[in-house]
Amino acid sequence: MEEHDLYVSGTLVWYYYICPREVWLISHQITPDQDDSNVSLGRFIQDYSYPRERKELAVGHSKMDVFKVGNGELIIGEVKKTSKYRQSARMQLAFYLDELKQRGVKAIGELRFPREKQREEVILDEETEKELDRTKREILRILYLPHPPIPVKIKFCKNCAYAEFCWS
Ligand code: SF4
Repeated sequence: MEEHDLYVSGTLVWYYYICPREVWLISHQITPDQDDSNVSLGRFIQDYSYPRERKELAVGHSKMDVFKVGNGELIIGEVKKTSKYRQSARMQLAFYLDELKQRGVKAIGELRFPREKQREEVILDEETEKELDRTKREILRILYLPHPPIPVKIKFCKNCAYAEFCWS
């Protein structure tokens, strides 16, 4: 893998808060089972929730959903199948807000959990920016490790598409 292929993305920020090993595996293009039911359900919810309202915006290496543009207000969002990993989702969205900010675009974020009928606003405040900086540095450190971090059993493993790879 070429070193320039390694970069921090919103997806990696999401996984960082769950499992550093998964960050390494994804970024080194070790692809999990795409037919895994959790991967499929997540994709279905992402693809079919709020279809009329959503548009996709590509910024740098990131693709984000735009929920609303108007009155000088840009709302970008993330749709998740569960709020169980809320901090991961918040920081992923904070990463997208930061990508926009670096290009001079001010936006606010909105997390949506359609199965739970919940929404949450995400704002890039000073504290979140500091946390995001720390996280990006830590992700880069993981990406440049010569081997993936050793697997550590966590609750997420039983629903992880890499479970067989890590634990068989
Ligand atoms: S199975 Fe567990 S240890 Fe392996 S990548 Fe998934 S969450 Fe991480």
